[in-house]
Amino acid sequence: MKKKPSYLQSQNTVQFVVDSHLCTSCGICAAICPLSSITMHVNSYGIYVPVIDAETCTECGICVRSCPGHEFNYTYYHKKIHHRLPEHAGLGPYFDCYVAYTNDNEILEKSQSGGLVTTVLVYCLEKGLVDGAVVSKWSDDNPLVPETYIARTREEILRAVGSIYNSVPAAQSAAEILNTEGRFAFVGTSCQIQGMRKAEELYPKLSDKIALYLGLHCLGVFTYHFHDQIFHKIGLERDKVKRFRHRDKAWRGWPCDMRITDIEGNTYDIAAWNSRLKPRPFFTNWRCQLCFDKANEFSDISFGDCRIPAMHKVIQQDGYTLERGLSEFVVRTARGERVVNSLIKDGNITFYAADADSLTKSIGAEKKIGIKTFFVLARLFNVGVPKYGVLFSPVQRSNAVTGFLIDKWTKISSSRYWFFYYGAHYNLFRKIMMHIPHRLFGLANLLLDRNVEWRTHRSDANVVLHEQEASAEKE
Ligand SMILES: Cc1cc2nc3c(=O)[nH]c(=O)nc-3n(C[C@H](O)[C@H](O)[C@H](O)COP(=O)(O)OP(=O)(O)OC[C@H]3O[C@@H](n4cnc5c(N)ncnc54)[C@H](O)[C@@H]3O)c2cc1C
Ligand code: SF4
Ligand code: SF4
Repeated sequence: MKKKPSYLQSQNTVQFVVDSHLCTSCGICAAICPLSSITMHVNSYGIYVPVIDAETCTECGICVRSCPGHEFNYTYYHKKIHHRLPEHAGLGPYFDCYVAYTNDNEILEKSQSGGLVTTVLVYCLEKGLVDGAVVSKWSDDNPLVPETYIARTREEILRAVGSIYNSVPAAQSAAEILNTEGRFAFVGTSCQIQGMRKAEELYPKLSDKIALYLGLHCLGVFTYHFHDQIFHKIGLERDKVKRFRHRDKAWRGWPCDMRITDIEGNTYDIAAWNSRLKPRPFFTNWRCQLCFDKANEFSDISFGDCRIPAMHKVIQQDGYTLERGLSEFVVRTARGERVVNSLIKDGNITFYAADADSLTKSIGAEKKIGIKTFFVLARLFNVGVPKYGVLFSPVQRSNAVTGFLIDKWTKISSSRYWFFYYGAHYNLFRKIMMHIPHRLFGLANLLLDRNVEWRTHRSDANVVLHEQEASAEKE
């Protein structure tokens, strides 16, 4: 039998992270490799992963040390960045929480939620707090391929509004950041920011170059196979797509539906229910189910969509139309607080103070509780389990009998995430999936999501954090 190349056998390169299905697609390994031996490509599971050039790779191990896919020690980074452990285990460390929308009409119209991220970026640029902003958007050359770049003008920042719900190796930009004069704001999902934080340890210059981390609250990403499913549904060929937006306010406003435009100018609007909510468990990167950090705890300010009905009511009573978009955000560090305070002082946003428990519930940060189930499944399927150095559990436990039944049911229903992620590796499986009506996805979710443990604790925003023993981490 042909012998595997050594980089596949060892844990000296991130290949073992990919092989154990722990890659988050953050891209930092590609940026950090001193020999430029790593490039990012979409694999057969439909996610970006590093591909290592065996000819030039010396197995120096730097990529592994910067990789958040297999290890990210919560306690260590909480203490390093926030100088304390979180006072609120669900939400993570925070100074203030807000619900808000931008007062800039152009940004509000184009942005994903309340336009807060773009407003903060433009503000920081115009006030000279940063020399540029690292943002991600679909490429102009290929509307289904993401690109990350340093934006240096308001126009360039505005070109990247909106969310890409696919894997984007945005931390790849660390290489350009390190080699470019100036200080920058970086916008990213939790794993991208974790990758940057780990790389800062190896290249302290990187932390001097990042003036602000703006984090996106992140439930997970779709695999790129989902594109084919959607295009098949609307009868559009991939190469006829001109513009693709996972969420666009153009049709029915916030919280947005999918909009695709073809090269002839026809538009296709697909309701959120069919383009985001129902298909999610069937087209998600498995690694996202093992991710604790929905609330982007290691950023300076984290942002998401506001789903607090009581706040919606108050804001509507004040005369605002929710369909224009509404954000929530969490200020986590002193430098984040300085920016937000001056943004507020200068009247750039309309804001309301929010309480941490409501915000945790809105973010769904108690996803942390459900992850135990996915850890058990990962061990069962003999794939990797990330090391975080902490565990989370709900404050209240179910009683013994219902607890047992819920536990078993949760494991069965949660295993569909692995089954569909893994199955999509095969051509035939993908072809079958293209023909499955969204109605069937909805029905499956209705049956399977009932009584899933973390859902039963949805109303309980309090999560307890336990530090794990060092030995447990090495399991
Ligand atoms: C993969 C993903 C999952 C998310 N999941 C949730 C969720 O479950 N719940 C929730 O409340 N919010 C979630 N969000 C955040 C939400 O979609 C909005 O990005 C957020 O509310 C900010 O809105 P805004 O109007 O302020 O952003 P905008 O002003 O529109 O700016 C958006 C910024 O995000 C950047 N960006 C977009 N996609 C990516 C990407 N994939 N990687 C790196 N940067 C990117 C762009 O560069 C842009 O600067 C998610 C975002 C992403 C990218
Ligand atoms: S998680 Fe990030 S650093 Fe680790 S292998 Fe994947 S892309 Fe590379
Ligand atoms: S859920 Fe976690 S691992 Fe997945 S894209 Fe979001 S931050 Fe990254």
